[in-house]
Amino acid sequence: MLDYRLDAETEALRKTVREFAVEVVAPQIGEFYERDEFPTAIVRQMGELGLFGLPFPEEYGGSVGDYFHLCVALEELARVDSSVAITLEAGVSLGAMPIYRFGTEEQKQEWLPRLCSGEALGAFGLTEPGGGSDAGATKTTARLEDGHWVINGSKAFITNAGTELTRLVTVTAVTGTRPDGGKQISSIIVPSGTPGFAVGQRYSKVGWNASDTRELSFTDVRVPEENLVGERGRGYAQFLSILDEGRVAIAALSVGLAQGCVDESVKYAAQREAFGQPIDRNQAIAFMIADMEVRASTARLSYYRAAEKMLRGEPFKREASIAKLYSSEMAMENARYATQVHGGYGFMNEFPVARFYRDAKILEIGEGTSEVQRMLIARDLGVG
Ligand SMILES: Cc1cc2nc3c(=O)[nH]c(=O)nc-3n(C[C@H](O)[C@H](O)[C@H](O)COP(=O)(O)OP(=O)(O)OC[C@H]3O[C@@H](n4cnc5c(N)ncnc54)[C@H](O)[C@@H]3O)c2cc1C
Repeated sequence: MLDYRLDAETEALRKTVREFAVEVVAPQIGEFYERDEFPTAIVRQMGELGLFGLPFPEEYGGSVGDYFHLCVALEELARVDSSVAITLEAGVSLGAMPIYRFGTEEQKQEWLPRLCSGEALGAFGLTEPGGGSDAGATKTTARLEDGHWVINGSKAFITNAGTELTRLVTVTAVTGTRPDGGKQISSIIVPSGTPGFAVGQRYSKVGWNASDTRELSFTDVRVPEENLVGERGRGYAQFLSILDEGRVAIAALSVGLAQGCVDESVKYAAQREAFGQPIDRNQAIAFMIADMEVRASTARLSYYRAAEKMLRGEPFKREASIAKLYSSEMAMENARYATQVHGGYGFMNEFPVARFYRDAKILEIGEGTSEVQRMLIARDLGVG
């Protein structure tokens, strides 16, 4: 039977994360955002709550949840702030998951306990300065020499790559030529501090300002042959499957932002007066808020559906793309409406909706742009 109510355990998690977001994150995150600063102490507290271990088993230090639990936690964090939410999303879904899914037992034992506790953060380097959507066009190379991979190249826009908690980045690199003449792409773990691995300055960004995003460069970086993640030549396929899951997580994060827009608008519209009455007495304002709620609620169902199929072990690529596309575009729309409801104050950085407005745009770009999602959905339908 179809039942999209949260069970008691998931509801308890949702409540805990909601309280953490409201009591710990909300009062301080605006200042980190304005200072372009990574909130290390908040991220450590998220680790203590077990959030980084949510979808992993106990034997690796996980919290005995699943990917849906992670999504629910992301939604509640993003309802208050997207920088901390994307730090969790990238740390789990991009940093730890490739090792859990494709790593050797030794790699899992070495990295997962630290990544699950939030004591260490991992990053995922796929995008290069020359392109992100065409991820197969990777130019970074890795050649095998005396039992070591020697890596050369660069990566762009990598989340969590340069925080004081960061310990590794998993990168894609060309490791040879496939029998059909195409590039053979593999994934390799590069621990932070490896000689020749340079982490650039934080980018100055439109949004997600309290999250860490860096350019990385690799000059004759040598790591042991055993740092290969999964099979040689399977790196591209691995990254694509990791991104399918990640899209469900980004959809959840988008729903959180969109719901935060509703929360803030309901509150503000009841207090703000114009023409002798609260502005929420005007249907023009009330209907904007109603439409925002409709979008957030329907988008939530789309990510629940994708997560349900994923957890059942059924194909969920199309549902993941639908959830990511719809949720990110409606989050952008909700941010625009919420700012409108706030009038001039919505344009002031001290109001959360200004942060939501700045944070919404990247949702239509990261982990596959809206155009890429449309391409995937169309392809799945046999058109385009
Ligand atoms: C804050 C931030 C954090 C990020 N974190 C990470 C990370 O942790 N790891 C990582 O690997 N990457 C990360 N990225 C990179 C992100 O995934 C890419 O920016 C994204 O995939 C788009 O790639 P691009 O920027 O190279 O744009 P391009 O690929 O150059 O695309 C430019 C435009 O062309 C469109 N386009 C491209 N090809 C087609 C086509 N065939 N048909 C129609 N339209 C097309 C795109 O949709 C887009 O509108 C991050 C980016 C940002 C901004």
